[in-house]
Order: sequence, then C-alpha cells, then structure tokens
Amino acid sequence: MDIKKTKFIWMDGKFVKWKDAKVHILTHAIHYGSAVFEGIHSYKTDNGTAVFRLNDHIERLFHSANALSMKLKFTKQQLKNAIKKLIKINKLSDAYIRPVAYYGYGNIGVFPKDVPTNVAMITVPWEHYYSTNLRIMTSKYARHSEKSSVFGTKLSGNYANSILAMYEARKKGYDEALMLDLNGYVAEGPAENIFIVKNRALITPNSRSALPGITRKSILEISRDTGIRAYEKKMTIKEVKSADELFFCGTATEIAPVVSVDNKKIGNGKAGKITLMIKNKYNGIVRGKDNKYKKWLTYAE
Ligand code: PMP
Repeated sequence: MDIKKTKFIWMDGKFVKWKDAKVHILTHAIHYGSAVFEGIHSYKTDNGTAVFRLNDHIERLFHSANALSMKLKFTKQQLKNAIKKLIKINKLSDAYIRPVAYYGYGNIGVFPKDVPTNVAMITVPWEHYYSTNLRIMTSKYARHSEKSSVFGTKLSGNYANSILAMYEARKKGYDEALMLDLNGYVAEGPAENIFIVKNRALITPNSRSALPGITRKSILEISRDTGIRAYEKKMTIKEVKSADELFFCGTATEIAPVVSVDNKKIGNGKAGKITLMIKNKYNGIVRGKDNKYKKWLTYAE
C-alpha cells in the first residue's frame, strides 16, 4: 500500500506539514512498542464527510492508553475535534485516520519513568484495501492472551505478533493469516475479526484473544436488525473449514470474503450470498444511506 500524502499531520495540538512530522530516534515507542493507536474510517456522504463510530474509536484509544498507564494531554473531545478539523484542512472524504499516542523522548530503559506522552494524528485518502477474495492459512503463532496483554486494547507492541503471522502467510503464498488463541480456538486475523456463516446464521469467536472490533460489533447489530441470527461462541478451526461462508472484517478491511483456509475451499469457493448482503448493507450505512444507523456517523463539517 503506497502512502498518499496529505498536507497536514496533527502533532500534540499543532497542524504540522507532512514532511516536518518527525520524532527523535530515542522515542521510547520505537524501542519498546510503547504506543497505542486506532484505525478510523471516514466516508463521503450526501451531507459531507462522515466519520464512522468516532466515539467508539476514541473510547478504545483511551482504554488502550490506560492499559499502558499513559496520561494523555488531550481530552476525548479535543481529539475528536482535531480529527474533524484535520479531515477538513486536508480536504478528505474517504479517508483512513490514524491516531497514535506514544511514550516519547526521555528515558532509554524499558520502564517509561518520566517519559512524556505524545499524541499524533495522520489522515490519508483511502481506497479499498482488499480487492480479491482472500485465501488464508492457520498461523503457527498464537494471538496474545490476557496472560500476556490486556483485553480490548490496540497496543502497538502487540502487532509484532501480527507481523510474524502475516510474513508467515505471505511467504507461503497466502493472502492472510488466521490466528488461534493459546487454547487452540479461533481468535482473529492479524488485524481483522472473523465471521463464519453456518445454516444462515452469523457466528464470530468469543475468544478473549481477539480484539472486540467495532466493525464486528456493528455487524452483529446489523445482522440481528436484518433478521439474521448472529452470535458469539468458542470456535474451532474445524468449524471454520466447514463453514458455508467466511469473511474477515475491520475498519480498514471493511468486509472481505474469505474463500479458502489452508487450501480447503469454503462453500463454492466464491464470496457467499449472506456475506455480500451484509457487505452491501454496511457500505450503505457508512455512507449515510441508511437512516436507522445515522447515529454511528459524526460529520466533519
Ligand atoms: N483485530 C485486530 C487485531 C485489529 O487490529 C483490528 C483492527 N482495528 C480488528 C480486529 C478489527 O477491529 P475494528 O473493527 O475495530 O477495526
């Protein structure tokens, strides 16, 4: 994915030119992954640019920061306002928004004693991440458990685990990895949640090693509203392989059909009907076409 530059990046309260948005090499987060982040998506709607579930993302950012005992110098409201303003001055509509809070310059040791925290926000134009139906493989790397990290957080350091799984999959010619938890149950993708469709019901793992994603939560709600049974349960890899349909979901990914797991074809090897129906519904909701879900949109202007 090439980075599409925009004019400004927000750093600690200031709108800084793209080329000037730099940090010192002794930034604690570079050495120890002591950062937390979010991935947020905005869309073009008839009423201007709308950010999808902004409040949920900012809540989760603070939950993550709290896990690392990070005290942010900005309130939730200030960060939301900064995102809206950044979208506006960068003249964006369909965009990916990346807030990151990190331990900065101040100490070379692991424990971030007296290390200041910084916050930055990057916005880039965003087109669709995945164009093809995914072929995935089961990773040998287990996803973090509550014994090695904090549930429900997006801690940068945890993503080394995702990178290992992604390299493993790409080196073997797959598009993506599927990660299990320490007990061998299905957790999630390296940066996506997973759903199976079985007998017309949508099912997603309830593993405590998976991030309770905002897209996942939205899909559960949308499905139930649409009259499709949707629930969470402990899931085995066998259930995944015998699913009628399968898809990954996430803020960046949106809804991406998965057509094989470890080379075992899912359904007829094409994107499933229910998957495409949910994807279509989701696309309308994020673009403000569905009045029922306008509560999930925050307009940038
Ligand atoms: N799991 C992981 C590990 C992720 O990084 C993401 C992306 N944030 C997701 C799941 C999907 O979460 P969301 O729908 O909130 O983007």
